[in-house]
Amino acid sequence: MASKSDNATPSENPENGESETGSTETMGFQAEVGRLLDIVANALYSEREIFLRELISNAADACDKLRYLAIETPALSEGDSDYAITLDVDRDAGTLTVSDNGIGMNRDELIGNLGTIARSGSSAFVDNLTGDQKKDVSLIGQFGVGFYSAYMVSDLVSVESQRAGEEGAWRWTSDGRGEFTVQPVEKDGRGTAITMHLKEDAKEFLEDFALEKVVKTYSDHIPFPIRLVNEPSTAEEGADDADTEAQEDAEETRQLNTGGALWTRSKSEIEDQQYTEFYRHTAHAFDEPWMTVHFKAEGMIEYAGLLFVPSERPFDLFNPERLSKVKLYVKRVFITEECDELLPSWLRFLRGVVDSEDLPLNISREMLQNNPVLSKIRSGVVKRVLGDLVKKAEDDKEGYEKFWETFGLVLKEGLYESGGDQEQILKLARFRSTTQDGLTSLADYISRMKDGQTAIYYISGEDKDALAKSPQLEGFAAKGVEVLYMTDPVDEFWIPSVGGFEEKSFKSVTRAGADLSDIKKEGDEEKDADKTEEEKAESSVDSLVIALKLALGDQVKDVRASDRLTASAVCLVADEAAMDLHLERLLKQHKQLEQTSPRILEINPDHALIKALNAKAGDDGTGDIGEAGSLLLDQARILEGETLPDPSAFARRLADVMAKAFG
Ligand code: ADP
Ligand code: MG
Repeated sequence: MASKSDNATPSENPENGESETGSTETMGFQAEVGRLLDIVANALYSEREIFLRELISNAADACDKLRYLAIETPALSEGDSDYAITLDVDRDAGTLTVSDNGIGMNRDELIGNLGTIARSGSSAFVDNLTGDQKKDVSLIGQFGVGFYSAYMVSDLVSVESQRAGEEGAWRWTSDGRGEFTVQPVEKDGRGTAITMHLKEDAKEFLEDFALEKVVKTYSDHIPFPIRLVNEPSTAEEGADDADTEAQEDAEETRQLNTGGALWTRSKSEIEDQQYTEFYRHTAHAFDEPWMTVHFKAEGMIEYAGLLFVPSERPFDLFNPERLSKVKLYVKRVFITEECDELLPSWLRFLRGVVDSEDLPLNISREMLQNNPVLSKIRSGVVKRVLGDLVKKAEDDKEGYEKFWETFGLVLKEGLYESGGDQEQILKLARFRSTTQDGLTSLADYISRMKDGQTAIYYISGEDKDALAKSPQLEGFAAKGVEVLYMTDPVDEFWIPSVGGFEEKSFKSVTRAGADLSDIKKEGDEEKDADKTEEEKAESSVDSLVIALKLALGDQVKDVRASDRLTASAVCLVADEAAMDLHLERLLKQHKQLEQTSPRILEINPDHALIKALNAKAGDDGTGDIGEAGSLLLDQARILEGETLPDPSAFARRLADVMAKAFG
C-alpha cells in the first residue's frame, strides 16, 4: 500500500526530512545517473507514459522474486500471499503511487539500486548520450530507462520500502537533481510504494481513463492484478454532497489488467501488441520481437513456452559466459532465468519463458542439473524453435536473411556443439558465394552443382573481397563451379565436425583433393575428352616439377601441376591430411601454433612463365632455373596474404631478375 503516514498527515511534508531530524542522510547520485536524470527531467518527448510500464514492470519483478523465495521460506510472505500491484491516485496532493507487496528493498538496496545504474537499458541509453543530443533524447521511449523514467512526469519521487523478512522500512526521496535522501519510516507491511508528485503538465496521470489506457496498452500481460484505487477527495465540491456518495467514491477499487500468465491464454485471444509488451518486460528489451513462438506440449511431459527472437542483437550476446536468458517457470511460478540446462547456448538469443507442469516447485539449482524432465523439455523446445525457423525461412525470405545476419553466427555454434540438430541447423544456414549476389542456402547451392561435381566447395578467410581474388578460385570460376565464402571464425570449427550436407561433403579449394578434373567446362565437354596424347604431353610440366622439388627441398611438401589455376602462375594449397591454410594462420595468430606446416606448391601448366621454365629445366629436370623456385614460392605466399620468411632475399632476387631483363 501507499505510505499511510503521507495520507494520514497530508499537511506535513515528510519528504523534506524535517520531521525526522538526525536520521536523514543525504547522498549524491553516481555521475551517470545525474546525467541521465538531467535529460529525463528536462527533455520534451512524446512517449512519457511509459514511466508507468517501467514501474509496474519493476513491481511485477519484485512479486516474482518473493514468490520464488517464499517456496523455500514460507514465512517471508506470511499473512499476505496475494501478490498485487496497486495504483493510488490522490488528486488533492497531485500524487500517483505505485505499490507492490513484493520483495521490497532495505536501506542498502535502496541506495544501490536507485542511486547507481546497474540496468542494461539505462546504461545503453547513457552510452548513447555521446554525440547528437536531439537524436539521443528521442531514444528515451525506446530504452525506457527503468525507474528513472518516473522523473519524466514528476518533480519529486519518494520510495518507501520494506524488505520481506526484515525489520524496519526506509524512505528514499529525490527531486532528481544530483542528490537523494534516505531515512527510516513506518511502513504498513513489506514491499515498495513509489509516490510521484506529478509535474504541472503531467496531471493527466491522475485520471482513471489515462491510467487505464496506459496499463491496457503496456502492462495487460502482467500476471499479477493491477488495481486502481481512488483516494477520497476532500477539496472537491463532492464533499458537500451526500456522505454516502463520497463514501462509495472512496472505496472504489478496480482491476485494470486481464491478469493471469500470458502464455496460458490461447493464441487467438492475444494481440500482437500484448506479445510485444510481454517480450519487452521479460527480456528487458525495447525492440520488436522478430519471431514469436507460443506453444504448449501435452503428453508424458507437459510444458508451455512463449519465446521470442529479438530483431536486434542483445548487447551481451557475445559475453564469454554465453548464458541462456529464457526464464524457467514451474506451474506459473518464476524459478530462475539462469538455467543452463533449459536451452543450449547456441540459442542464447532467445528470450521469453518456459513453464513446466512436471518439475517440483521447490526445485534447487543442483536439481536442475542433469534433470531428465528438463532435458526432455530442452530437446522439445529446441525442435520447436528450429522447426519454426525453417518455416519462417520459407515464408519470409528477406526477414529471414536479416535474422541470419543478426544471429547466424550464434546458431552456427550449434553445428559443433549440438547433439543431433546439425542437419536442421545446416538447413537454416546461409552463405555468400562466388556466383550469387545475396545469401544462399546449401540446398540451393546443391541445386546449382555442375555435372560431375560431388562436393560443396568453399574458401575460408577473414574477408570476402580479399578471398574473391584468391588464385585457387580461378579454375572454379573457369568451369562455372560455385564456391562458398566462409568468413566467420567458427566456420573453421564446424566444417570438420559436420562433414557434409545431403551426402555432399565440404571441400576447401585451398586444399589438395579439391579435384576439378571430373567437372566439365561448360560447352567444352568434347574438346577435353578428345585431347590427343601429343597435346597432353605438350602441356606436361613434369621437368619443372622435378626442378622445383630439387630447388625448394623441404620448404614445400610437394610440387604439382594444378588444374585450379588459369591466370596465375602458382598457388599454395594445404595437404589433404593437413590443416587448411586459413585455420593454420588463425591458430598461428593466436599463438596456438608455432610454425605453419609446409604446403603444396601448385603450378599452372598453361602459364607462359611456367612453360618457359619447364623448357629450361630440360628433359630430366636438372637444367638451370636460377632463382625461379624461391621467387615462385614467395609469390605464392604473397598471394595468400602471408608474410615472407625472408623479405630481403626476395627483394634481392627480384632485383636480379629485373636487372637481367632490363639490363
Ligand atoms: P531493472 O528493472 O532493469 O533492473 P530499474 O531501473 O527499473 O532497472 O530498477 C533498478 C532496480 O531497482 C531493480 O533491478 C530492482 O533491484 C530495484 N527495484 C526497482 N523497483 C523495485 C520494486 N518495486 N521492488 C523491489 N525492487 C525494485
Ligand atoms: Mg525495471
